[in-house]
Amino acid sequence: MASPDLVIIGSGILGLAHALAAARAGMSVEVIESTAAPQGASIRNFGMVWPIGQPAGELRDTALRSREIWLEVADQASLFNDPCGSLHLALHPIEAKLLNEFQSQNPNTTTILSPEETVERFPLVNPDDLQSALFSTTELCVNPREALAQLPNFLNTEYGIRFSFGETVTKIDDNDIKTNLRNLSASKIFVCPGANFKILFPDFFTRHGVQQCQLQMLRIEPPMPETRLQIMIAGGLTLSHYLSFRDCPSFPLVNQHHSDYYPEFMKRGIHVMASQHQSSEVTIGDSHTYGLDLPPFTEEHTDQLILGYLAKMIQSETWQVSSRWLGNYSKHPTEPLLKEQLSDATTICASPGGAGMTLSFGWAERNIADLTQ
Ligand SMILES: Cc1cc2nc3c(=O)[nH]c(=O)nc-3n(C[C@H](O)[C@H](O)[C@H](O)COP(=O)(O)OP(=O)(O)OC[C@H]3O[C@@H](n4cnc5c(N)ncnc54)[C@H](O)[C@@H]3O)c2cc1C
Repeated sequence: MASPDLVIIGSGILGLAHALAAARAGMSVEVIESTAAPQGASIRNFGMVWPIGQPAGELRDTALRSREIWLEVADQASLFNDPCGSLHLALHPIEAKLLNEFQSQNPNTTTILSPEETVERFPLVNPDDLQSALFSTTELCVNPREALAQLPNFLNTEYGIRFSFGETVTKIDDNDIKTNLRNLSASKIFVCPGANFKILFPDFFTRHGVQQCQLQMLRIEPPMPETRLQIMIAGGLTLSHYLSFRDCPSFPLVNQHHSDYYPEFMKRGIHVMASQHQSSEVTIGDSHTYGLDLPPFTEEHTDQLILGYLAKMIQSETWQVSSRWLGNYSKHPTEPLLKEQLSDATTICASPGGAGMTLSFGWAERNIADLTQ
């Protein structure tokens, strides 16, 4: 078999995004993946393509470009996608103030809704503590489990990208790649290992201070199967989480409010978001624990905090938990994305943190353009 122009290690969303961009640029591509099917962060997430969480400028633009590519690919591959937008709920006046500030910075894509308008448009929202809501048009909902399962077939059929599942790359030396099954070579190699960053180039990740971040997630089932959220929803705690809100003058006050009133949430890195794909189940989360070797156990108290806060956001008290899981991603201490060319052949692209579904397609397109120029 002829050597491909590009070998990509990892078939998470970042690996697939680079494979697509490279194939569109005319390169022959092979993707090598350890597991028999994707199992990493890319199938464990909400499926939120979330430009609103990225700071204005290059990262927001990358997210918006990713959204365009998601729409193209989802259309061609017949994948679920819902350009429903997002709703941030202010449950305290200081959160409402910050939402107003954010809206005035982003007047073309966001609108402030009163509590009455919010409940009229989205009847599942709990009106009890609601101060206002920020509606944004730029967010896209995809189904991560479906997308990651089907994209390899689509990329193979449409672009001739080869996939080797169940094969672990154990060593890379210039253009030479060693796996547990064979040796091969490629002109270029991209390493996209997700949270599994101790197999290849562990010293590189140690030098950069990359850690794992572990999240607790749940799916809950409404009693009426036809129940639809109609939009992806975030609560006020999310305003302390995403970098995009830090430019708002009220951010320090909001953050202080959350530290004062929600210390347990802040300690566990909990903010609450909800998305819904084709089925009635709603994916909710999450918490954030950082470290190099994290225990594989979930904490029931964390789940109860998430469920309790969700019930302040939507009328979900009677909904049943249908599944729970942990997800891990790798995180650089300061950089939102980590790219380094280690040799003429090998580039590491990793650690999109909690925004891999949002940033990967746009980032990969730029990385491949850099390679082919
Ligand atoms: C619970 C949770 C919720 C999230 N929600 C969102 C969200 O809604 N929106 C959003 O934008 N982002 C979200 N994220 C972040 C996003 O999921 C990640 O940033 C993204 O999935 C990372 O993709 P990846 O390809 O880098 O890693 P992964 O999906 O982990 O894939 C890496 C792959 O590389 C393979 N691999 C590693 N080493 C080797 C090797 N040596 N040989 C062969 N294969 C190898 C692994 O087996 C794995 O399949 C969430 C993350 C989590 C955990």
